[in-house]
Amino acid sequence: AQVWKLKTAFDGIPKPENFELIEEDLPRLKDNQILVQAVYLSVDPYFRIFVGSDGDLPGEQVAKIIKSNAPDYPVGSLVCVHAGWRSHTVVNVTKSRRLELIREVPGLSPSLWLGTAGMPGVTAYVSFFDKCAPKSGEVIVVTAASGAVGATVGQLAKNLGLTVIGIAGSKDKCEYIKSLGFDYAINYKEDNISDALDKAAPNGVDIYYDNVGGAIADTVFGKLRSHGRVLICGLISTYNNTTEETGRNWSKDILFKQLKIQGFIVSDPEHSSRFSTARNELISLLRQGKVKAKEHVTEGFTKMPAAFIELFTGANFGKAIVKA
Ligand code: NDP
Repeated sequence: AQVWKLKTAFDGIPKPENFELIEEDLPRLKDNQILVQAVYLSVDPYFRIFVGSDGDLPGEQVAKIIKSNAPDYPVGSLVCVHAGWRSHTVVNVTKSRRLELIREVPGLSPSLWLGTAGMPGVTAYVSFFDKCAPKSGEVIVVTAASGAVGATVGQLAKNLGLTVIGIAGSKDKCEYIKSLGFDYAINYKEDNISDALDKAAPNGVDIYYDNVGGAIADTVFGKLRSHGRVLICGLISTYNNTTEETGRNWSKDILFKQLKIQGFIVSDPEHSSRFSTARNELISLLRQGKVKAKEHVTEGFTKMPAAFIELFTGANFGKAIVKA
């Protein structure tokens, strides 16, 4: 098997030299084990902050079963499995964390199990409906709005009748989210975010769905209305910081506007019972065209580090996937 390992700890933005590609012998297949070959691999921002001390790189992949000693897992089937950055993996079907057979859904690529029909989509769905208390007619601001999580949140909010303001890092991304139905798109690299928010939401913002943190979050906080809600899903603008972040003091906003601020981690066992409902609902919305998914596919297992690094420059446009 080919396996990507972390060779040196990250310092600032990840660099190609932080990674090394090694060859690993695979063990012989025992009972209840399958050998899988990666077809699509996910790269996700959280790798930047949750890399194991052994140098293993985490993440899910859609993989094909090429040998099987487990009757319910026939050769040729596809699975979604948490196998990390590996070309081939022996998986124990009774012990493996997050292993599931992928059912074929007409019109949907299995790669969506890594994006809108998988972890990022479920993150968007559960955190938005369970934690944001959204109501038709309210105003929501979403950051990293063209990405896997952000674009899904924005579309779910639009379907529910909210006014949706997306913040993204390029003209193309802004045009794209408008094409998805977002009411307003703000390019944080060119526009004055504060002025643009005043124009789009003259009466203020009810929900801030934060994927980026940092200075953008500071600005949006200042625009929240009384009884506003904040869902902190990600802080990607801070993941590469080498010094402790200093930001605006939100205490006054929190007190006088009586804000509700909540963090959300999809892997918390609290949410595991919601996973299959959320996924089924997302699959149904994808099939009806009520939620659209955009993927940013990089060809070749050897490009895993490059695809990962792109997440932090905004070069990915849609859910970042590597096709092995
Ligand atoms: P995306 O597909 O949105 O890709 C990341 C995007 O982040 C980039 O394309 C870029 O878009 C934006 N970005 C990168 N650097 C910055 C920066 N310095 N300032 C502002 N924006 C930046 O990734 P995901 O949808 O997978 O993840 C989005 C967020 O959600 C991340 O923070 C991630 O950690 C979080 N997340 C949290 C989960 C949870 O359980 N809490 C689960 C899954 C994801 P642009 O060009 O617009 O800047």
